[in-house]
Amino acid sequence: MTAVADRLLHLHSAIRHAEYSARRPPGCVRLLAVSKTKPAADIAAAYQAGQRHFGESYVQEALSKQQLLAHYNITWHFIGPLQSNKTKAIAAHFAWVHSVDRLKIAERLSEQRPAFLPPLNICLQVNISEEDSKSGVMLAELPQLIEAVKALPRIRLRGVMAIPAPQHDYEKQRRPYRKLYDFVQQLGIAELDTYSFGMTDDMQAAIAEGSTLVRIGTALFGAREYPPSLSG
Ligand SMILES: *Cc1c(COP(=O)(O)O)cnc(C)c1O
Repeated sequence: MTAVADRLLHLHSAIRHAEYSARRPPGCVRLLAVSKTKPAADIAAAYQAGQRHFGESYVQEALSKQQLLAHYNITWHFIGPLQSNKTKAIAAHFAWVHSVDRLKIAERLSEQRPAFLPPLNICLQVNISEEDSKSGVMLAELPQLIEAVKALPRIRLRGVMAIPAPQHDYEKQRRPYRKLYDFVQQLGIAELDTYSFGMTDDMQAAIAEGSTLVRIGTALFGAREYPPSLSG
């Protein structure tokens, strides 16, 4: 068994355990394998071990791996920072985008989504760290953004994504996720079925607070080394 296949097995059991501890139904949390900076061979190894959803953060890097892996039935998620000049490629080459935090970008993605593809699934990235520098829409502006994005024809709004400031303490890791989960739940919008919460270091806390999709890179593919060309 490859190292990636072995880690995938461990991750599935860690997710199952976290679901069980949180008294949530088995299988309610999906694993998104975050393959940014990792070679296509690593993605192929995870694919052969059954993984189908992969997340990338850099458009050019993603497109070249997608070409190499075109014969695989992969669902690609874009999870990186969004710039206006990249929306066209993203709208054409991904099934999901997790990092939409302003209407302008959502409108461009809707306009640029090719007609032959199903609507683009998106999550709105919310700033729950209370740090001005972090990307994401502020909680107070979320309801308005949801209403505007819901009206876009080629977008299917699925939920929210958050990247809280890193914390080592488990209770502190849970708090921002709980706040966002409760906020979205009380809006009572049926189509919001996705909580893109949790990375390698806070996966358990995120699952305890309602995550339906964890975005895992390091625990699956090992630590990343950033080539200078990808540092953006
Ligand atoms: C890189 C990245 C991840 C994966 O992080 P790990 O700590 O390696 O699991 C998850 N989400 C986003 C948005 C990322 O950019």
